[in-house]
Amino acid sequence: RTRTRFAPSPTGFIHLGNIRSALYPWAFARSTGGDFILRIEDTDLERSTQAAVDVIIEGMAWLGLDHDEGPFYQMQRMDRYKAVLADMQVQGLVYPCYMSVAELDALRERQMAAKEKPRYDGTWRPEPGKTLPAVPEGVQPVLRFKNPIGGVVAWDDKVKGRIEIRNDELDDLVIARPDGTPTYNFCVVVDDIDMGVTHVIRGDDHVNNTPRQINIFRALGKEPPVYAHLPTVLNEQGEKMSKRNGAKPVTQYRDEGYLPDAMVNYLARLGWSHGDDEIFSRAQFLEWFDLDHLGRSAAQFDEAKLRWVNAQHLKTMADEQLAPLVAEQLAKRGIDADQRLPAICGLFKDRCDTTVALAGWAAAFYAPVTASEADRAQHITEAVRPAIASLAERLAGVATWDKPSIAAAIKEVLTQHGLKMPALAMPVRVLMMGTPQTPSLDAVLALFSRQTVQERLRTV
Ligand code: GLU
Repeated sequence: RTRTRFAPSPTGFIHLGNIRSALYPWAFARSTGGDFILRIEDTDLERSTQAAVDVIIEGMAWLGLDHDEGPFYQMQRMDRYKAVLADMQVQGLVYPCYMSVAELDALRERQMAAKEKPRYDGTWRPEPGKTLPAVPEGVQPVLRFKNPIGGVVAWDDKVKGRIEIRNDELDDLVIARPDGTPTYNFCVVVDDIDMGVTHVIRGDDHVNNTPRQINIFRALGKEPPVYAHLPTVLNEQGEKMSKRNGAKPVTQYRDEGYLPDAMVNYLARLGWSHGDDEIFSRAQFLEWFDLDHLGRSAAQFDEAKLRWVNAQHLKTMADEQLAPLVAEQLAKRGIDADQRLPAICGLFKDRCDTTVALAGWAAAFYAPVTASEADRAQHITEAVRPAIASLAERLAGVATWDKPSIAAAIKEVLTQHGLKMPALAMPVRVLMMGTPQTPSLDAVLALFSRQTVQERLRTV
């Protein structure tokens, strides 16, 4: 059974680049009948915030990236890490290192001067027949992991192909600080073991950690999972997407009227492809998703493209499904929608790219509209006022309030006044909707109540 996880650090509001690292492991678990685990890596106490955790949980729920287990919090697993550490100490897999910060700095400087890669030199690493320095008094040691000496660490990365790192390029990693708290790479391995993770799909900013993590897995007697390291997501300026250069929190896209299925569609394509298929449903995505078609080069975010994808989903979404999302946007404007909303969505969705835009149209059916002075002056001329008054009168008397009866009334007024459709339709649209550009007039009027039509047409 496959088990994947998303392991965000709540040190900032997750953006689209981050959430893509949740989408793929989620999709892999769902498409292989496995489990998807959510783990919050909150050990950086200074930078982690509850607000950031909330955005992770809300954003994932909004996008429908449901997890089977968790959220687990690393801060709540400290006892477990310490127990594993104690065990490793007993087994001789780790050792205390008393090198001070000043000594480490001096070592680094010597190595840099000799054009060597700075690395810990193993001073405190116990070896048979080796005499260790005298333990300095009053110094709390760090614990270092005994990295294997010699040989290579290798793995077949699902995205990057085979990677081989020589062990002599890796030094003995600090896995516990002087106060006994475990460090990042160690916690990740303990978690991935305890949580039975079979596939680690994560950003390639972690690719340098992987050989170290693999060595820890093996020291603990476990085989490492399969790794897939995803290339970076770049912003529109070509920089690595980050909150520091203006990436929006993922929940902001919900507020701006994007659809979860459209987001999933867009993010899926940001680093994975299925031939030339551009617009697809969630179900299609899960049917098609595989690790073999993950892209190898960095993907660039394009907001215009995202809007376009959103518009495609909006057009094909059932009106009944769309209506509640538009109702949420209307509620933010203080408007309570009613049973007309699905039909309103149906009539206007073709000309919108977000539910916010759609709510903008729908609002005209629930709250007064104000047209621009220019539109009023251009369309509501003295010459057309009598025709508007006739229309109001005829509409007041139609037997049934529906589109055919309304169309018939409009036709009679046009004949009576010798006008062409636009001459009457434009001013009536301006009065009813606040703009001359709308779908056909009979369809629009049919969605208003007879009373509202009277109110708006008689205030010319
Ligand atoms: N917590 C890490 C991050 O937010 C992810 C670690 C992992 O996936 O192994 O970048």
